[in-house]
Amino acid sequence: MSEPTIPVPTIPETAVPEPTWERSVDLLVLGTGAAGLSAATTAAARGLDALVLEKTEYLGGTTAYSAGTCWIPGHRHQRALGMTGERAAAERYLDLIVGERAPRELRETYLDRGPEMIDFFDGLGVRFWHSASVIDYHPEVDGAGIGRALEPETFDGRRLGPEDFRRVRWPVPEFSLFGGTLMVRRAEVNRLLELFRGSPRAAALALRLGIRWFFDRLRYPRGTRLAMGNALVAHLFFVLKQRGGQVLFNSTVKELITDGGQVVGAVVESHGRELRVQTRRGVVLAGGGFSASRTWREQHLPSRRRSSPAPPRVRPATPWISASPPGGPWARTTATTPCGSPARSVGDGTGR
Ligand SMILES: Cc1cc2nc3c(=O)[nH]c(=O)nc-3n(C[C@H](O)[C@H](O)[C@H](O)COP(=O)(O)OP(=O)(O)OC[C@H]3O[C@@H](n4cnc5c(N)ncnc54)[C@H](O)[C@@H]3O)c2cc1C
Repeated sequence: MSEPTIPVPTIPETAVPEPTWERSVDLLVLGTGAAGLSAATTAAARGLDALVLEKTEYLGGTTAYSAGTCWIPGHRHQRALGMTGERAAAERYLDLIVGERAPRELRETYLDRGPEMIDFFDGLGVRFWHSASVIDYHPEVDGAGIGRALEPETFDGRRLGPEDFRRVRWPVPEFSLFGGTLMVRRAEVNRLLELFRGSPRAAALALRLGIRWFFDRLRYPRGTRLAMGNALVAHLFFVLKQRGGQVLFNSTVKELITDGGQVVGAVVESHGRELRVQTRRGVVLAGGGFSASRTWREQHLPSRRRSSPAPPRVRPATPWISASPPGGPWARTTATTPCGSPARSVGDGTGR
């Protein structure tokens, strides 16, 4: 007796519900550090609709705590000084310092496109000063150079308006005075220290900073003259909003929605509400925190011993702010960013 055939039900096409979107954007970005904000600002500057989610109520992540120094060999200031051969020298330097711990293609893209990135942001008004005397962290390594570092220009927080200014994460005490309420540039710290030698230039600077700070404090919780990483994130935030981008605070992504292996949207959680956001051009995950995770470091940053020769250990040549406590604000850190600075994550970003 032949076995009865079981009819296979055919599913009518309409049985698969079309996803319904509460909002549709070109680009969705997670995180308001340098990575997230620069991606969103670039998109917005190119006419795309960019939405940024920040899980805390503060802007800037670890970047807001940082010196904000960018290490970009062959940038416009070096070119203007006729410094040639930076690209090749920096490649040798990175080969020795980073080696096979990062894909060569990534390093090459970083070196090729870095100067272009600086020019692009310069065009948007987010400018950098040339730290001409800053020497690379490993001067003893072949290809090391001088003047590759760039410092974000100071930013006037008043341009953001009181509400947005309040969002900018406060700096670490080591990079500021009076309990984090007055930011000073590293170069200014050196100059202010000359006060002890009775320098009139130092006195004039102290007076200028003090007067501005005094009047700021009548209206704001802290001084509005932002420096370093604080200046960088505040400025990017300003340009992003100018170009129509938006940041949603206390918001994150619960789930990415895919279609045929491609990310087409996300389930966003914002202020206790869930909404489905369609992402026409993509999602950028820039939540930082990588360097704070031992598991990820062990997984993705194999130890130098196994991959490339270790350069001799030397004290960093960069003159970091001298007010740092022993071990500095990076005492709990071990990883290194592309700019050579040890990184610490905001973690859950309790902020201030
Ligand atoms: C004191 C100090 C000085 C430093 N100086 C320098 C320097 O001069 N030059 C340099 O190159 N590096 C420096 N660093 C390292 C540098 O700050 C970091 O490598 C860099 O800021 C990382 O940027 P990011 O955008 O990847 O992450 P972050 O700046 O940490 O930003 C990540 C953001 O994403 C948010 N986030 C996380 N998860 C989610 C989620 N699921 N949804 C939404 N949002 C989320 C976080 O709250 C945070 O705001 C320094 C670090 C420290 C601590």
